[in-house]
Amino acid sequence: MIPAGVKNAVILGLGISGMAALRFLQDQGLNVAVSEFRPQEKLSPQEQALVQDLDLETGGHSEDFILTRDMIVPGPGIPLDLPVLQAARSAEIPIIGELGLAAGNISVPVIGVTGSNGKTTVTGLIGSLLSDCGYHPFVGGNIGTPLLQALSGPVDYDVLVLELSSFQLDLSGAFRPDIALLLNLSPDHLDRHGTMDRYVRAKQRIFSKQRSDDYAILGGDDPLVMQQTSGIKAAVATFGHDRSHQACIVGDRISLDWRGRQSEFSLTATTLNSKVNRLNAAAAILAVLQLGASDSCIRKGLASFVPAEHRMTQVAELNGVVFINDSKATNVGAMAAALESCPPGTVLIAGGRDKQGDFTGLRELIKKNVAHMICIGEATNLLQETFGDLVEVESARDMQAAVARGAALAGPGQTVLLAPGCASYDMFADYGARGRAFTRAVHALVKTNEPASF
Ligand code: ADP
Repeated sequence: MIPAGVKNAVILGLGISGMAALRFLQDQGLNVAVSEFRPQEKLSPQEQALVQDLDLETGGHSEDFILTRDMIVPGPGIPLDLPVLQAARSAEIPIIGELGLAAGNISVPVIGVTGSNGKTTVTGLIGSLLSDCGYHPFVGGNIGTPLLQALSGPVDYDVLVLELSSFQLDLSGAFRPDIALLLNLSPDHLDRHGTMDRYVRAKQRIFSKQRSDDYAILGGDDPLVMQQTSGIKAAVATFGHDRSHQACIVGDRISLDWRGRQSEFSLTATTLNSKVNRLNAAAAILAVLQLGASDSCIRKGLASFVPAEHRMTQVAELNGVVFINDSKATNVGAMAAALESCPPGTVLIAGGRDKQGDFTGLRELIKKNVAHMICIGEATNLLQETFGDLVEVESARDMQAAVARGAALAGPGQTVLLAPGCASYDMFADYGARGRAFTRAVHALVKTNEPASF
């Protein structure tokens, strides 16, 4: 929602979200300037083309350039404690993020998904279940296509399914999802939010504008999530392992009891039959129920769902050793979930850029399930200090060396798991590049082990 009277806006930080915000604001008839931290030559050709006739500042964010506008739209990567934003607050210039801009421009039901882990899986699963139930969902937000891009184009969808990050929720303004999901909460992005309390408050914002005719779906196994229920105006449903939850996990089935509707969904023989994905499936089922999905189309959707890459993906089995790529385990909570689903004796490849996660909570789990730990990247010393007294910890110079060492250490029945618990940016462009490096190294090993053909 653009505040009344605003004519001149400035986008802080381009990138995919910034470009979508720029087009959206131009379509609404605003004069839009761009302030970008990168030097001009680092902009992509697409970014260059978009800004060529605009009022543009590159190489930093200056008060002179920014404080002369009457609205500021920071991209999701911009730290909110930048001095220029503090000056803008003092000058009472509105600071609005992409969700805040979208509010008031949405004419279809919105499902918003947040949490520390599982967002992409649940968002994708809800989209896939709805497609199988005859809907035409837009699936995006923090993944894939930004929301403002969807709102700028032709409306060929009848429901929005949005993955929402804490960065986006920080500036969500009047944005109100009809169905809001908070899956779980564990420390993440504390380098940006500063404290766990501020991170949790950002996530909590997903519910803050909801009304009594909306739905809030919460991960009932997570005590910190359940502490967020007070103050929610929407009807609350929870999922988890206790019978008290509306969607309860019993073995590999989900038993549903919600507003008079009782059903059971089996996850046997689906890609969702793991500890974390059973929780993700329960959350997604509760969400699509609110839109009237039938049991039979939910069953069809569960059977056909394929999770995104780099999430507990089995890459190969070589001489009885299973290699698993969980590169998307970029925080301590996801690393814990990965380790819980691996057998004792696992060889763990971990490390990267630390996000100020607290690894000490993993000591029991590491002791129970990990035989050797191979560290890569900046967090090597931290991991050695935290776990060196419990298991064998060593370092590797790159992914190829880590995989080779993992293969040498593991024997039949053991698993070599990539679950870094850290961001990838010290060594790779992103978690996808890190996962691909792991996969390439494993495939190369498999190839060298193939019998020679004549
Ligand atoms: P996000 O989008 O929140 O990062 P993803 O679905 O991409 O979540 O999964 C990221 C990582 O978190 C993967 O490593 C996955 O194994 C782990 N994960 C997925 N779902 C859960 C969950 N419900 N609880 C804990 N960890 C999870």
